[in-house]
Amino acid sequence: MHVKNVSGSSRFPKPKGYDSWLEYWKAHTGSNPYFCSAENCLGTDLVGAHVQKAYSDDKSWYIVPLCSSCNKRTDSFNVNATLVPVPSNL
Ligand SMILES: [Zn+2]
Repeated sequence: MHVKNVSGSSRFPKPKGYDSWLEYWKAHTGSNPYFCSAENCLGTDLVGAHVQKAYSDDKSWYIVPLCSSCNKRTDSFNVNATLVPVPSNL
């Protein structure tokens, strides 16, 4: 799945009931990732990044675990992880 970062998403509040967006992603997938989910990236300083699907009419926001440098990428890139929808009731 090709995605791109939602710019400026760090200003969004963390989800109710979770310490971070990464915790939110883990709770919804049952996964506990060690490496960044971007293809060919072995970064381990993970955050729950806000992304959109690239090349898609779907403009919804999703969470995926990315390392801090991938979280700053401005290109679109492939991730190997479940996209967990951001709740619309923030
Ligand atoms: Zn990365």
